[in-house]
Amino acid sequence: MIKVGGLGDVAGSLPYALRSLPGDLLGGHSLDVRLVIPYHGEVARKLLDPQPVASFIVQHPSGPIPTRAYVTYISNVPVYMIEGAPIGTETPVYSGDNYIDGVKYTYFSQAAVEMARQLNWRPDILHANDWHTALSVFYLARNRLSRDPFFAQTRSVLTIHNLPFMGAGAERALAEFDIQPVRDLRLPIWARQFPLPLGMLAADRIVAVSPTYAREILTPEFGCGLQDFLISRSSIVSGILNGLDQESWDPEQDSLIASNFTAANLESRENNKKSILDEFDLSYDPKIPLLILISRMDPQKGVDLAVDSLTQMTHVPWQAILLGTGDPILESACRSLQLQFPDRVRAVIRFDTRLSRRLYAGGDLLLMPSRYEPCGLAQMIGMRYGCVPLARATGGLRDTIFENSDEHPKNGFLFEEIKTDAMNAALQRALSQYSDRALWRQYQINGMQQDFSWKKSALEYANLYINLWENQR
Ligand code: ADP
Repeated sequence: MIKVGGLGDVAGSLPYALRSLPGDLLGGHSLDVRLVIPYHGEVARKLLDPQPVASFIVQHPSGPIPTRAYVTYISNVPVYMIEGAPIGTETPVYSGDNYIDGVKYTYFSQAAVEMARQLNWRPDILHANDWHTALSVFYLARNRLSRDPFFAQTRSVLTIHNLPFMGAGAERALAEFDIQPVRDLRLPIWARQFPLPLGMLAADRIVAVSPTYAREILTPEFGCGLQDFLISRSSIVSGILNGLDQESWDPEQDSLIASNFTAANLESRENNKKSILDEFDLSYDPKIPLLILISRMDPQKGVDLAVDSLTQMTHVPWQAILLGTGDPILESACRSLQLQFPDRVRAVIRFDTRLSRRLYAGGDLLLMPSRYEPCGLAQMIGMRYGCVPLARATGGLRDTIFENSDEHPKNGFLFEEIKTDAMNAALQRALSQYSDRALWRQYQINGMQQDFSWKKSALEYANLYINLWENQR
């Protein structure tokens, strides 16, 4: 229906995966999962005939806001869409103005809770995601405090996909909706009127999108100033990895790559490498590894580290194709690398999903030197396509890539410190092991055989929901 980032993938995949879980995995429970999103203009233009299911009022100090809810069904998941003036009919998902977005999502959060009451559909669990919907958890707690019998049994889960995005700039919008700064001394003063911290204060459970990120956000390095507050709530914080849409990302079926392949016939994969090198006018030599980087060009992603490391590693052979857009300084660093090493490097400065598929299918080593990475999808896609990841050991990268693990077979290369030397050492290890074809193939197979399915994540969420539900009875 609409997608601007990873949250779109989650909203599209998790509800369906939850509904598809067999009852025997859920101790006999069944899950009636429903999704509610704003009726964004782009969605409205695509879905011509949704059914209106409720028409109600959202309270606002300067006057009631008439609101409507529509429903459509996608793969049997009921998807409710909220329509009302603050959501607008033409504004994109993000307007680019924090205040306008603040109004939109504060309204949406309140309307989504109110809609459940209007439909007389009493949720056992309200599961909100990121700052945009964190206030629904806050409203729910307010309703509970006011002893509203409708929501007396409803418990809440708030998933954090990227902690630094807390909804800063929305304070005026919150004040207009009569959300005054809370007095809770555990929250730093600046955070007392930000949507995400308010949601975290009110939630019954907080989930980060990987177990490592769940631990990292309790530290000053990753906690964005909320670490002490999060430590005070650490008994309710846990981590659940996002899944990957394994149907969409399937090298056996992908019609956009030169040769399809599986872990059983990795020889065919080599055609993809030949073809992508040819496309970018680079020479093919099976002994030279092709390094790829597919990323937003953002300081978070450590693109600068990758560029520095490649600049210093020219005593060994490699080729590299870097795909991304974003920060002009990082874009130009990639372009300069190509100018410096025209026989080895191509910098492709654009967003191109089709090309990304050809790169995942043909690259030998995927570079992901992220400074922080709550979950990370690219490494999972890379592994599924037999492209071995080299990453910094942080967040979801640490939970999915294993170099020296007692429990998991080796599927990639990791380095700890945010330093070029540390990345160089990992790159050196990878490049020297590349020449051992049998060993490398084993790393590819180990990555390809890993389970990144949404089913696995969904089961963890389902257990969390059931546990919450059972404990409050
Ligand atoms: P984040 O959500 O922080 O950007 P993830 O690793 O979770 O990082 O997801 C990034 C996704 O975006 C991956 O699917 C990756 O292939 C894709 N991607 C990033 N940059 C580009 C690009 N320039 N062209 C095509 N796909 C891209």
